[in-house]
Amino acid sequence: MKIPKWKHNLITGYQNFRAKPYKRHKDLYEEVGKYGQHPDVMVIACSDSRVNPSAIFNAHPGEIFVLRNVANIVPPYDPSAGYHGTSSAIEFAVKALNVDAIVVMGHESCGGVTAYLNGVGAEDKKQECEHSFLDSWIQILDTAHEKLLETDAENAGCQRQMEYAGVRQSLVNLMGFPFVEKAVIAGNLSLLGTYFSIIEGRLLFANKDGIFEEVPTHRSKVADK
Ligand SMILES: [Zn+2]
Repeated sequence: MKIPKWKHNLITGYQNFRAKPYKRHKDLYEEVGKYGQHPDVMVIACSDSRVNPSAIFNAHPGEIFVLRNVANIVPPYDPSAGYHGTSSAIEFAVKALNVDAIVVMGHESCGGVTAYLNGVGAEDKKQECEHSFLDSWIQILDTAHEKLLETDAENAGCQRQMEYAGVRQSLVNLMGFPFVEKAVIAGNLSLLGTYFSIIEGRLLFANKDGIFEEVPTHRSKVADK
């Protein structure tokens, strides 16, 4: 029986992984598998298939703790009962892994942000009378959008400005988690907003004012002497 293309690609990809990256880092896999992970950084990125933090940071197994969801959103702190997948991952990273930093990574042409700006799903929901998890989730971007309307109303409908605003709001929401705030104030945890431009493969870091600036692409340009 012919196997479907997706399954064929998964198996081929796995075999390539075994032949190259796994073979190269076999000892490392064995070490982190036996003795556990000690990542310094947690990255909260979008589920988008084009934005892979481990690839962008050229990270080895055990180096970064990654959480991906639609539109790289950190929801507001909400201690009520519920299925808080994102919040529980943040708690684990801070309390159990003691990461040094949490990095939120937004990206170009984010489908979640497009859906928010276009109100995608609203009509379908009316017709189907069915709960949309996606609609509820991306509505968390309301606060980011309101802030953008206050500070830069002209660009409030602009995809990129909204993507930046979403990252900034995720950082604000992170500080709403008591254990995050405590670790940041104690100097044990840093927060950083970042943005990945897919077309050019370029990364930007947010400065202290929330403005996104390009990270040097070449090692010699980094002032790390
Ligand atoms: Zn996205």
